[in-house]
Amino acid sequence: MDTSPLFNSRQHKAVQILACGNIHVIDRAARIFSVPSQRKNHLPYRVNLAAQTCNCYDNAIALQHCKHLRAAEMRERELTMTVTAAPAPLKFKTYDQLFAHYAK
Ligand SMILES: [Zn+2]
Repeated sequence: MDTSPLFNSRQHKAVQILACGNIHVIDRAARIFSVPSQRKNHLPYRVNLAAQTCNCYDNAIALQHCKHLRAAEMRERELTMTVTAAPAPLKFKTYDQLFAHYAK
């Protein structure tokens, strides 16, 4: 369940990882990301969103949807939103037309 305390704690950590801004795209098309570890002096983890894998203990051994996967997913969403944000005026046109229709 998404409302379990475990989910919330992982989600919270994923948000923290995302906030530090050190998630790097290794291969955008292949959806591979480098996600920093929250432990000091630990190498970043390699997350593959296409395969839903991460090389941390949680994911590789315990087969969990780990915080690194979550953080990479959020980062990917951010990147997607940034890319698709440009051709926005079409939406406004639709709203204008709707408004014009109701104004009659
Ligand atoms: Zn992980």
